[in-house]
Amino acid sequence: MKMVIDVITLFPEIIKTYLSYGVLKKAIEDGLIEVRIHNLRDFTTDRHRTVDDYPYGGGSGMVMKPEPLFNAIEHIRSDGMERLIILLTPQGKKFNQQMARALSGEEKGLVLICGRYEAIDERVRTIVDEEISIGDYILTGGELPALVIIDAVSRLLPGVLGNYGSTIEESFEWGILDYPHYTRPPEFRGMRVPDILLSGDHEAIRRWRRKEALRRTLDRRPDLLEKAVLSEEDLILIKEIKEES
Ligand code: SAM
Repeated sequence: MKMVIDVITLFPEIIKTYLSYGVLKKAIEDGLIEVRIHNLRDFTTDRHRTVDDYPYGGGSGMVMKPEPLFNAIEHIRSDGMERLIILLTPQGKKFNQQMARALSGEEKGLVLICGRYEAIDERVRTIVDEEISIGDYILTGGELPALVIIDAVSRLLPGVLGNYGSTIEESFEWGILDYPHYTRPPEFRGMRVPDILLSGDHEAIRRWRRKEALRRTLDRRPDLLEKAVLSEEDLILIKEIKEES
């Protein structure tokens, strides 16, 4: 089933440009995802197409008016499809791979609201289902966060990546970081590809990869190991790694 994503933005070109390349471009061409981009100014009703106004109570910066955002969402909803309305905001739940996977299985269409300026009128929150942040920093607008979500979610949809297995084995999907990868040549500037990867011994390669993924996680993100589901073999590998260092 095709995933439908509506994006509400003041800068449609930012979204359009990113979606014109690589895997996402192909996924759109193949009809696996449909991204509808809505210019917020098209939902204003005044001559100047005003989307922002001064904050009540004073203070710096402008506030996005509620009317155009409500109009845009009502327009998007008018086709009768069920929608999950997502507001991009640094105050939202922090986005991660589990959330990407949950959204990739969502049957409703996704609506991503990209903010700009100092803030959005608080009343907009009443028509929002979820608030998502992409990290603890402040960007100038919600377009990059929207693209981060579209990208992370789309590549998990069946058929979007040629090799579906690659999404299962990578960092975070199996609770730990990815293992080291190599391609040809076997020796580059004195650095050799580990012999085991050239051995053709699939079981030895599988074990080596798992061990190196665990080593990397222990080294860089030990917090992930506390939450990861570890097998008997993992515990043996971790013991080996600790003995080696
Ligand atoms: N004053 C707002 C606050 O502190 O929550 C930040 C406004 S920010 C300058 C403008 C817009 O960028 C926000 O409405 C939001 O859509 C987007 N944005 C900025 N940082 C973000 C983040 N870390 N995650 C998601 N959206 C973000």
